[in-house]
Amino acid sequence: MHEIKLKAHAKINLGLDVLRKREDGYHDLRMVMQTVRLHDRILLKKTRAAGIRVKTNLGFLPADESNLAYRAAALLMEEFGIGDGVFITLEKHIPVAAGLAGGSADAAAVLVGVNRMFSLGLSMQQLMDRGVRIGADVPYCVMRGTALAEGIGEKLTRLEKPVDCTVLLAKPPVHVSTKFVYSNLKLNEQTVHPDIDGQILALQEGDFASLAAKMGNVLETVTVPAYPVIAQIRDMMLEGGAAGAMMSGSGPTVFGLFEKEDEAKMVSERLAGSGLAKLVCLTGFYHPRTSGEQP
Ligand code: ATP
Repeated sequence: MHEIKLKAHAKINLGLDVLRKREDGYHDLRMVMQTVRLHDRILLKKTRAAGIRVKTNLGFLPADESNLAYRAAALLMEEFGIGDGVFITLEKHIPVAAGLAGGSADAAAVLVGVNRMFSLGLSMQQLMDRGVRIGADVPYCVMRGTALAEGIGEKLTRLEKPVDCTVLLAKPPVHVSTKFVYSNLKLNEQTVHPDIDGQILALQEGDFASLAAKMGNVLETVTVPAYPVIAQIRDMMLEGGAAGAMMSGSGPTVFGLFEKEDEAKMVSERLAGSGLAKLVCLTGFYHPRTSGEQP
């Protein structure tokens, strides 16, 4: 196989709880993860000349070894002593630094692609074990679908998939640093933790209303006071008929789940015209085929 086309899907968190800060500086998390249809496109080409090259459609993204797609290819090619080279063409559609794990999704797709292209024979679990060295969200981005993520995000349990709905994504024109969010997070007795167990139960029972009602992200306690536009977008989605709306990951993207597509469209037009969001996108849940769990 000389070239391979891949789709790297974005994720949202239907629930995000932080349990505690660990000795090593990381946080113990409990998150309900869901892949969405929005994706980057990646083309991998085998080259005779050794080395990894990255080309991307976004001028501000690094195309060197700090690109997560590069790091994923390097990780496997070094381990397996691959003498050929790889040319990675990265067509970004997932907003960058948005809380949608775009970089992790690219890394995961490249792990899967290099494994296939060079017939390395690694299982999905073996790719996930390697992926965590690149980033905490990478194992989940290899697995995809609906999952409970614990630990720093790398301990994964597959969950029942939710019923389909329209997902509206809106990214406000603010830059939120993940480091800022976690270092300003204050957990105490007053902290309202989202009901992650309740969400798991709602998924098992196929109860969409309950799943949406239990959506919550403890990181909003930091980002909403600092960037009130996040709450403004969230409220606009809820007023426009969303069953649930909240910030994804450490932000700043806000998403809403709509049972009625026309209501999602109306809110997306209102948001685009309001100037509150720089990027607005209608999408839906994405479910990979899980039979055999082949990467
Ligand atoms: P997460 O939800 O995992 O915190 P995110 O959606 O907030 O991720 P990314 O889009 O993954 O953030 O980008 C985070 C940083 O990683 C950016 O500052 C970007 O420069 C860098 N980066 C490196 N490689 C990539 C890539 N392939 N795509 C996007 N960002 C990348």
